[in-house]
Amino acid sequence: MARIVKLEIRHIRLALKKKIKHASHERNDSENVVTVVHLDNGSTGLGEGVPRPYVTGETVDSALEALQSWPLASIVGDPVDFAGVVRALDAWMPQASPDDPRAIGSNAARCSAEIAILDAYARHFGVPIGDALNFSAVAADVPIGEPVPVRYSGAITAENPWKERISATKMRIWGFRQVKVKVGIPGADEVARLRRIRRRLGSKCDIRLDANEAWTPAEFRAWSERLAFSQPSAYEQPVPHEAIDELGKPEFRQPFPVILDESLCGPIDAETAIQGGFGEIFNIRLSKCGGVLPSLRLIATAIRNGRRYGLGCHPGESPILSAAGRAVATRVRDLVFLEGSYDRHVLAEPFAKQDITFGYGGKANPLGGSGLGIEIDMAKLDSVTVRRKDITYA
Ligand SMILES: [Mg+2]
Repeated sequence: MARIVKLEIRHIRLALKKKIKHASHERNDSENVVTVVHLDNGSTGLGEGVPRPYVTGETVDSALEALQSWPLASIVGDPVDFAGVVRALDAWMPQASPDDPRAIGSNAARCSAEIAILDAYARHFGVPIGDALNFSAVAADVPIGEPVPVRYSGAITAENPWKERISATKMRIWGFRQVKVKVGIPGADEVARLRRIRRRLGSKCDIRLDANEAWTPAEFRAWSERLAFSQPSAYEQPVPHEAIDELGKPEFRQPFPVILDESLCGPIDAETAIQGGFGEIFNIRLSKCGGVLPSLRLIATAIRNGRRYGLGCHPGESPILSAAGRAVATRVRDLVFLEGSYDRHVLAEPFAKQDITFGYGGKANPLGGSGLGIEIDMAKLDSVTVRRKDITYA
């Protein structure tokens, strides 16, 4: 048995190796929220959330505020085993404010708290954090197995033609089976881009196109006809969230499946998509979906309603979220796609003692050990911490 006695709530800023640019945003660093949980027996755990105003409406400030407001020690109590921790967290969903009808406005914060608590207790009980999946209330509805090696997707962002050619050629040489290509950048000649990229990736590579809400439904219809030659397996979030329900109308139905990303952050979003008859694939990302357990519930909802699902990531997430994603990715079967573990490719200085970046062709193995299975260099974490608030429980 063990209780939470202290929380560290940290705003961290991670320098990125290169600017992240897509249709709805552009930035040089990533502002994340890290929670450090201390148990009374000295065990600690770390969790992370990536608040993005254009995804869940959260800011770093709102996430820090939410984390301070939750009585986490009493939510978890004094569990006798890891299953007890998971049951307590599975039953905990923060109350949504009245101006948040999708009930997603503290998802990144909840993710940060949940993963920290799971990590601390998993270390205390000597089990990997991935065991949480087996104790979830929806475990029986989701294909979950022993951890196995996985393959991550590559990603091609909008660059000049020269750099895009190099990216695509590298991905082919490295043997990526799946590549996500960002589209919808204003003024870009998407036909020429996709022609170059498809030629270099070869005909067997699975290509997904992510427009990050750039098009109207009519533009999406027009682009999907013009880009059909590149044989994308799916379009991700082609239109803004506000227009996503239009895709349920017969005139906007496409021969390609649509992946919901910005429009799929919580159970209300999932229900809206199912009722509206749009969105064939759910992009599950731990932070925007509120953590591991709410993400698993969304996967169960997808399965029950004939939808497919993939596991995405937030560019700029630290090795904490990479490791949590790995725990899910290596255990949950039938993921349509898998993104994440870009660490060394995206971050100027990942602060884990191990490098868990994927290898050639996106290949990665399950992480061993208890908890998240990584050790964090706390001095390096301190060096990227912008603000920190400690809360102690009596
Ligand atoms: Mg996306």
